[in-house]
Amino acid sequence: MPYNNSTQLAVFSDAFQKLRPMEDVGLTKINMNIKNMEGGCLCGAVRYCVSGSPFATEYCHCGMCQKASGAPVVSWMDFHTNELTWTKGKSTKYKSSEYVSRGFCAECGSSLSFCDTRHPEFITLTIASLDNPNLVKPTYHIYTDSQLKWLTIDDDLKRFPKGPEKSS
Ligand SMILES: [Zn+2]
Ligand SMILES: [Zn+2]
Repeated sequence: MPYNNSTQLAVFSDAFQKLRPMEDVGLTKINMNIKNMEGGCLCGAVRYCVSGSPFATEYCHCGMCQKASGAPVVSWMDFHTNELTWTKGKSTKYKSSEYVSRGFCAECGSSLSFCDTRHPEFITLTIASLDNPNLVKPTYHIYTDSQLKWLTIDDDLKRFPKGPEKSS
């Protein structure tokens, strides 16, 4: 099946971010139908609204996400950039690797966004920054090579030791 619809691409969250058709790596395209979700940082200085549903959602266990968040794992959701509106304030950017820009609130430090600067048409946001994070559920794990030994997540989601790789 040809992958001619950009909504079928998955953005993966790390310095080694790659764009791949989700079916190519054995993932099912998520089917969420959520409109106009709002979120923001801890202190309220930065607020956003996303008009569409995420086209991918994932847990990232990489060491950079751990450091950036101070948490054992970060759950991310991927959108087309034109679906995102910053409705209050503006996230501050930190260039965490050659092509990666991470957005956070300069006042309270909340992790908000991730962008591969080679693909400005996609933006990744932290699920937990949503006002209602229960609306969006991660659908696979990446970088489980660096998953913390004491962290048990008992689900049957697909796991990738590093970024998603095609299983032959
Ligand atoms: Zn804040
Ligand atoms: Zn990561």
